[in-house]
Amino acid sequence: MPIATINPATGEVLKKFDPLPPEQIDAAIGRSVSGFRALRETSFDQRAAWMRAAADLLEAEQDDVGRLMTLEMGKTLTAAKAEVVKCAKACRFYADNAEGFLADEPADADAVGALRAYARYQPLGPVLAVMPWNFPLWQAMRFAAPALMAGNTGLLKHASNVPQTALYLGELFARAGFPEGAFQTLLVGSDAVEHILSDPRVRAATLTGSENAGRSIAAVAGRELKKTVLELGGSDPFVVLPSADVERAAQVATTSRSQNNGQSCIAAKRFIVHTDVYDRFVDAFVAAMSALTVGDPLLDGTDVGPLATEQGRDDVEAQVADAVAHGASVRCGGQRGDGAGWWYPPTVVTDLTPDMRMYAEEVFGPVAGVYRVESVEEAIKIANGTPYGLGSNVWTSDAPESERFINELDAGAVFVNGMVTSYPQLPFGGVKNSGYGRELSAAGIREFCNLKAVWVG
Ligand code: NDP
Repeated sequence: MPIATINPATGEVLKKFDPLPPEQIDAAIGRSVSGFRALRETSFDQRAAWMRAAADLLEAEQDDVGRLMTLEMGKTLTAAKAEVVKCAKACRFYADNAEGFLADEPADADAVGALRAYARYQPLGPVLAVMPWNFPLWQAMRFAAPALMAGNTGLLKHASNVPQTALYLGELFARAGFPEGAFQTLLVGSDAVEHILSDPRVRAATLTGSENAGRSIAAVAGRELKKTVLELGGSDPFVVLPSADVERAAQVATTSRSQNNGQSCIAAKRFIVHTDVYDRFVDAFVAAMSALTVGDPLLDGTDVGPLATEQGRDDVEAQVADAVAHGASVRCGGQRGDGAGWWYPPTVVTDLTPDMRMYAEEVFGPVAGVYRVESVEEAIKIANGTPYGLGSNVWTSDAPESERFINELDAGAVFVNGMVTSYPQLPFGGVKNSGYGRELSAAGIREFCNLKAVWVG
């Protein structure tokens, strides 16, 4: 994949970049090590002041950086600006809470024959972050804010189609006051990742992206015995039961499936609806998906822009075509847009069966698959019936039923009567092929720490 900004709304190449040569990668890793030595000596208060300065910059620059994201990957400008503001909030959250999350954990000194015993969190060193284009600022920030607050340094290998957003991030933390080398962007292709991760100076890695990229990074990290956090794809279920507020569920379903032009790992993708409310839900859902405004992502009032890459659009088109060839019905959308750019409309597909690709694969575009079920048992079976386990949504006003879904859904998150969203306050991550490890919350900042046992006699 070339390292370039290509406007997905038009297909126009706006800017190209050469990948960093090996000697510059080596120098950047060197700066990451010296940055780590400097950063680990600073206090939480100092790091928090820099992190709050980064938040101020983000808020002040939201228009420009939002526009940049829209031009690079096609999300609506409204969504892009909201993403920038969310990043600023995450910076402030970790500025406020890192010290508490990483406070020494006292142990029972008597029981271990010590005068004092406790566990202390310490940073690991340079961490490689391989990040995707779909939330180009947020995905990187939810690694960067906790990592820097813990005293780690970051080396960002961003997706090749968002190089200018990557460069913005590479400068943001230095501008906010962090020491040289604390956070750097390496403009490199995925072919450079093995070399970087194999470098003994790089201590760990985090990836958000596809299953393939996850397997590849985990294989290198396994060979090198390095810690990884993997946040991979998802095909989140959205279960609607008879006691649900069906109209509200259909509205939220539309937002969840169309957010970010349908390219979110935690978007609801499979809508599993009890037969008693199936027709009501499908009618409302199809009406709301059809009513979305598709168009120029820079304009106010646009709900859905183009897909980020031509390949991504072709993949979605092929998955829908496969479902139709096997007997599925398209209730709205289902035809790619004409002309330049990588357009695919909000689409609802019903009558899905297990022989269709959409049944088990993630669809990374605004395409909803709807399933009719006769019982709670069948809903749970279909919900858990994919290789993924990232988020899950259930709509019910019956408390024991809700409890059952909370317990039985194989997922890293369950949202009841709401839409799966990432919050700095809640852990984020998956099970099964959606990956392992957690981002955000206290769990996220602790992932890249050495939890050192201290025994003082
Ligand atoms: P990728 O996984 O290919 O890209 C994500 C990041 O990983 C990019 O920085 C990419 O670099 C890098 N990468 C890709 N392959 C490797 C590799 N073998 N070794 C090391 N790094 C690698 O995602 P795509 O953009 O191709 O999207 C394809 C699918 O991935 C989607 O359909 C979706 O299922 C999933 N995805 C999930 C996301 C999520 O939020 N969980 C986000 C994006 C994608 P480069 O750009 O240079 O190839």
